[in-house]
Amino acid sequence: MRQVTVQTVEQVTPRVRRIVLGGETLAGFPAPRPGAHIKLLFGADPNGSAEPKKMRSQMRTYTPRFFNPDTNELTVEFVLHGNGLASTWAAQAQVGDPLTVAGPGGGMDIPEPLKTMVMLVDESAIPAAGTVLEALPADCTPIIICEVEDDREQRALSSIIEVEPTWLFRQEKAARPGLLLENYLPNLLATVKDFDDVLWWMACEANTMRRMRSQLLNQKEAVSKDRLVSRGYWKSGASNHPDHDFGES
Ligand SMILES: Cc1cc2nc3c(=O)[nH]c(=O)nc-3n(C[C@H](O)[C@H](O)[C@H](O)COP(=O)(O)OP(=O)(O)OC[C@H]3O[C@@H](n4cnc5c(N)ncnc54)[C@H](O)[C@@H]3O)c2cc1C
Repeated sequence: MRQVTVQTVEQVTPRVRRIVLGGETLAGFPAPRPGAHIKLLFGADPNGSAEPKKMRSQMRTYTPRFFNPDTNELTVEFVLHGNGLASTWAAQAQVGDPLTVAGPGGGMDIPEPLKTMVMLVDESAIPAAGTVLEALPADCTPIIICEVEDDREQRALSSIIEVEPTWLFRQEKAARPGLLLENYLPNLLATVKDFDDVLWWMACEANTMRRMRSQLLNQKEAVSKDRLVSRGYWKSGASNHPDHDFGES
């Protein structure tokens, strides 16, 4: 558990705030693996007498987007979805506000050689998609599909690697979260020539992730499980969705 304070707050898009957390306690923070996560503890004193269950209810899972070991600063990008402990905190965050960070954990190994990486994400996983993108072998082609609210939510996924994702806008189609990703998947599958060359990475709302996972595993030319990484980053109607929902059950 590391106690940090807010150093800067930047409104990146109408629904995303980039918050830099800093403090001497971040010295030695391990370099996160692609797709890794941290736990953020809101409002409870980690050294206080809060019961573990209560403390867990005040934790949320986020992506360590950048860590700068020279300044001990950790960047996190929050979706302002309007209804939750973390989202509300981020919407109101000001320089100097305290927060507690634990981790990093999780993340993935990227197999090499890798010809094509297909990423299907919603806005909650755009920071993680950026970390994966930056870890791909130089000759790997990324194909990235991002579902977001509207065209004002388009943004660069990385300041190092230039890519042109396909953007899907919910508001244009009056669609529920995840529907546009699900509907897009068959088009994508039709373009794949050799499934052995592709690693699929999907991170989004949990029910959407399950439906897309099942499409990939059950289609005629099924994707093999070891070429598929699926993550439920949040779940419609559920607070504090676990950080290890891989869609396997
Ligand atoms: C490995 C991992 C990495 C993640 N990285 C990031 C990240 O970098 N940035 C980020 O913004 N999120 C990230 N998430 C998702 C984040 O943990 C969840 O969105 C979390 O539920 C937010 O907590 P909250 O307190 O705001 O809402 P909660 O209290 O958990 O939920 C309250 C309500 O809001 C809904 N809700 C939660 N998240 C969303 C959403 N994104 N859109 C619409 N409705 C939502 C829930 O269904 C619930 O009804 C990550 C999740 C995982 C598992």
